[in-house]
Amino acid sequence: MKQSDKSSKAICIFCGKEATISVLKNIPKNGKTYNISECAECRIAVTHPFPSGDELARLYSCGNYRTNQGKRFGNLIESLIHLGRLIKRGRITKHIKPGRILDIGCGRGLFLDVMRRGGWSVLGTELSKETASYASEVYDLEVLTGDLIKHQLPGESLDAININQVLEHLKNPAEVLTECRRLLRKGGLLVISVPDLRSLQFTVGKENWFLLDLPCHLFHFTEEGLKGLLKKNGFHIRRIKRFNREYSPFGWLQTLLNVSGIRFNLLYDLLKSEELRGAETEQIKPGGILATLLLLPIYFPLALILSVAEPAIWRRSGSIEIYSVKE
Ligand SMILES: [Zn+2]
Repeated sequence: MKQSDKSSKAICIFCGKEATISVLKNIPKNGKTYNISECAECRIAVTHPFPSGDELARLYSCGNYRTNQGKRFGNLIESLIHLGRLIKRGRITKHIKPGRILDIGCGRGLFLDVMRRGGWSVLGTELSKETASYASEVYDLEVLTGDLIKHQLPGESLDAININQVLEHLKNPAEVLTECRRLLRKGGLLVISVPDLRSLQFTVGKENWFLLDLPCHLFHFTEEGLKGLLKKNGFHIRRIKRFNREYSPFGWLQTLLNVSGIRFNLLYDLLKSEELRGAETEQIKPGGILATLLLLPIYFPLALILSVAEPAIWRRSGSIEIYSVKE
């Protein structure tokens, strides 16, 4: 969806109509304010005004999305994330035999490294040249930089494509899905994981939802919206996974802390590796740390319970993972 001007109007790029349902208004971020509006037909929402290229480049060059030394968090959390990748490899191979897989927005290449160890031939794309060179130097991976579409990879050359928490960051998610369809062989698997705007986490958190990530998330998908988009692109839905080890419990925990009035994403910033924390360290006040420590014994078990209860009772989750095949 493109922003038409600096006002609150947003046009849905998926159908070309105006996104008329106001989801959130005037959310201040980095000295600017943003709105989120949803298209009543496509059930996908857009951030507007759309951040400029310069603004996004600045956001990605520091903060959550970058690291040179390879670690975003401490060792324990990194190990848990690694375990999650191993389990995901198992889920993927339940649907399809090892072949060639593309990871769009592969970051440091950790997922591709895990897949290669499982007998897959791997390829990644990554917008950041710095992160891409880390993946190729440290893991000896083939990583293409920049936009996937400009590389014009051969059609029907892939068995699987993974897009993990990336689609919502792209300026052209519809075009990327069309390209995925072209690149996959018939019966090839597409795995997409995105935050779900219909989740209880969002309903409770609103602008304080950990996975909202304004203004980096240009689009805000719903399960219905993403399913519709996949079907429109000729994909058949095989499975929807609504619990995510990496995002569900922590998403709940940080959202609960955020709605309690503690500095936004304080715990997340404390858990990040020192290199990533950088300039943010000075904003951390002892009062916020104390309040976090006092609330953790209540919120941590509550977050675990809610992470399990949300998919079990409401069939929703802060983050969903959809497995679909090219028909
Ligand atoms: Zn639309």
